[in-house]
Amino acid sequence: MPGELSGRRTAVKAHFGELGNYTHIRPQFVRRAVDAIKAHGGEPFATDTTTLYPTGNRLSAPGVLSSARYNGFTEEALGCPIAVADGPDGESGAEIVLDDVGSGDPLRRIRVARCIAEAGAAVMLSHVKGHPLSGMGGAIKNLGMGCTTKGCKASQHAQHGLIFDREGCIACGRCAAACRFGALEMGAGGPARGDACVYCLTCMWECETRSIRLLPDGKERFQEGLAKAAAGVTRMLADRPVVYMNFLMDVTQFCDCAAPAGQLVFQNAGILASRDPVAADKASLDILDRTAVIPGWGKDPPDVLGKLNDTSCLIQMRAAERLRIGSMNYELVETLCRS
Ligand code: SF4
Ligand code: SF4
Repeated sequence: MPGELSGRRTAVKAHFGELGNYTHIRPQFVRRAVDAIKAHGGEPFATDTTTLYPTGNRLSAPGVLSSARYNGFTEEALGCPIAVADGPDGESGAEIVLDDVGSGDPLRRIRVARCIAEAGAAVMLSHVKGHPLSGMGGAIKNLGMGCTTKGCKASQHAQHGLIFDREGCIACGRCAAACRFGALEMGAGGPARGDACVYCLTCMWECETRSIRLLPDGKERFQEGLAKAAAGVTRMLADRPVVYMNFLMDVTQFCDCAAPAGQLVFQNAGILASRDPVAADKASLDILDRTAVIPGWGKDPPDVLGKLNDTSCLIQMRAAERLRIGSMNYELVETLCRS
């Protein structure tokens, strides 16, 4: 990146972790990126977006910032300002239209979080870990879900759908009580879902009889939607320098939105850097396939994170490749970094 960053306001996109999550990327690594950007003449700021789900602490900008402080991401520690990219209510963004996505597709229009859309350059720091819907969360997930507005996040989650199974429902009402959006109304045979639903899945996690489920191909559809949102972000930033760094550290079954995110599946396996987020994710998956799984998980390579989360992590990468975000073909150059 030498020379490319000179005078550019550079977004350092990281996941600051849900309140109390302790397997997110360490603030010290973010600081190293900030210092490198400054050394190359850039003007860094660290950023993250609000969440769609209401059960954590990051539904609004003040919550994102207080969680960040709790987890060690302060301006003093990072050496740069911290901004919530999608604004106070999570809806501040800039729109881009994907011309190659059908006109009836809710993900044809992608709203990129304002601070990222307006940045002069970006360094995307992605913690590689599992995710219950996408199998793995890496660079594609950080782009699609991490760099878009709350409304765009809801459109991505709408892809996995939500089925209410009346057969198994015992009409306990827990789901309706848990819905913070007033989208569930209890009837005689169970809950009825209204238009206010944002697909946050709080009700599904709450249901003890597993009567609330995704569509049978929900995880595939979710990953396809994730790739479309990621395409919106990369196309928005197409005329600016962007680097992707994937951290294969503290690899848990679940993502950094969980606090805690469970036992480790893999120990540390390195840090990847690339201009291509698809290559970074495919290389991450391949490296994990060659890394010893911590005993006790009962899953063997390939795609241990996908197997643990009942999907294939390749779906998002293939979709991203079709959308010309990048390529799954890559050349791996290995170095031992001592500093
Ligand atoms: S939580 Fe599950 S079992 Fe209880 S009312 Fe809702 S769907 Fe039915
Ligand atoms: S109905 Fe369920 S998925 Fe929809 S907003 Fe309410 S809790 Fe979230």
